[in-house]
Parts: sequence; C-alpha cells; structure tokens
Amino acid sequence: MRIEVLGCSGGIGPGLRTTSLMLDGQTLIDAGTGVGDLEPAAARNIRRVLLTHAHLDHVCGLAFLADNLFSVIDRPIEVLARGETIEALRRHLFNWTLWPDFTRIPSERTPTLQLRSIEPGTAIDPIGEVGVSSFEVCHTVPSLGYVLQGPAATFAFTGDTGTCPRLWRALNALPKLDLLMIDVAFPDQEAELGELAKHYTPASLARDLGELRHRPQLLLTHHKPGNEAELLAQCAETLQGWSIRHLRRGDVIEI
Ligand SMILES: [Zn+2]
Ligand SMILES: [Zn+2]
Repeated sequence: MRIEVLGCSGGIGPGLRTTSLMLDGQTLIDAGTGVGDLEPAAARNIRRVLLTHAHLDHVCGLAFLADNLFSVIDRPIEVLARGETIEALRRHLFNWTLWPDFTRIPSERTPTLQLRSIEPGTAIDPIGEVGVSSFEVCHTVPSLGYVLQGPAATFAFTGDTGTCPRLWRALNALPKLDLLMIDVAFPDQEAELGELAKHYTPASLARDLGELRHRPQLLLTHHKPGNEAELLAQCAETLQGWSIRHLRRGDVIEI
C-alpha cells in the first residue's frame, strides 16, 4: 500500500494543507485542503473516502471534490464515517444552504456522494490485501482513527485526539503496530488549550505513550501553523528513545 500525504497540517498557510491521505490512488482518509492539489485525473479515480470526524479541516475538500466531479464520474464516491459525522455532513454541509446536497446531485439514483455510516471498532471492506478497521478516539466531536493492516506492516492513524485511554486500548489490541500517525497540535506551553481542544502536546503524548505495548515509528502530524519549529524541538526532547518523523505534505509511506 502506498500512502501519500496530501496534507497533514493543523491549519493553512503557504505550503501547508490540512489533513488528507491518499491510499493507492483510490481511497482518501479525510478530505482537508490537501485534496485541492489533486490533478483532475487523480481526483476522478477516487472511489472511497474514510472520514475521521466532521471538523472542517478534515472535510472541506469533500465539498469541492464533489463539485468538481459531479458531471464527470459515472458512479458515486462512497463516504464512510461514524453515524454522528454523517449526520453532521447532512445537516450542516450538504444542506443546500452551505453547499448543494451532492447526495442528490446529479440524481437521487446516481448521486456524486453516497454517505454510509460505519460502526466504530469494526472492520471495513479491505483495500486489496490491506485490512481496514476503525477505532474510537477522544476529540471535541465523535471521532475515529483507522488501522491499515498490510501483509508486511501495520499503520494506524489517530485523526484528531487528545488524551484517550480507549485509543491506547485499541492499539494494544493489535497484534503489531509498525507506524503510528498521531496528532501533536500544540506546544507544551499551550497544554491548557490542548486539553480544551482535545489535541496532544509533546508532553501529554510522551506520557500517554507509556500505555502503549508496541514500539512503532511515530509520524507526527496536525501541527498548528507557526508552531512547527517549536514542536520539532519539544518532540526531539520529550520523545527521546522513540523513532519520530514529522510528516509533511508530499511525504509517501509504503507499507
Ligand atoms: Zn478536529
Ligand atoms: Zn483537525
């Protein structure tokens, strides 16, 4: 499996895009502003979108993607997310006010988007030989992370999360974990904000990693713009002994 990071920033700015991962050219995990850099041919290949949660930095690209594709695709894009996220998309985004309802365009029978709720913690249709499942995390809205279990390696992406015992329980239940892509949004001096907004800081992540029985490489993501250098320094200090990599737009992970 090839995972391309279309965006992984906690905000926008020159060269920064919000969260979206492209899996083998056909599946997205989240649809943040990173989707906007896709060539039209690449966008037309998308078959499925897995969403972690309803926050705009993870779904705004879906609105524009649907608008670009409704007249050129011949089958719906399947959008999978937990029920609360699907409900939020229907109620607040694809509601004819903020944006047209692309679950009914161009027609109810063959819409652009087909929204489907998934049960947290259960397996989803595999992608080739890679198994896909979700797990619950702790954010300000109901949120999921996803696990991709390939023949050679297991990759987990938390989406947005702060301190979360059930996250570590879910990861510990995996037979192995080679790569963990995890949220570190705020530097340590903004710990209070991190707790309110339910995002990790280097110190809270380092503390909670003590719960993890695996020793994956950490792919650190969702840094709030302007804090990157400080987060780099704090993570180097706080996560000593861990293999860490700060993800950037354009990075490719092969598992
Ligand atoms: Zn969020
Ligand atoms: Zn976010």
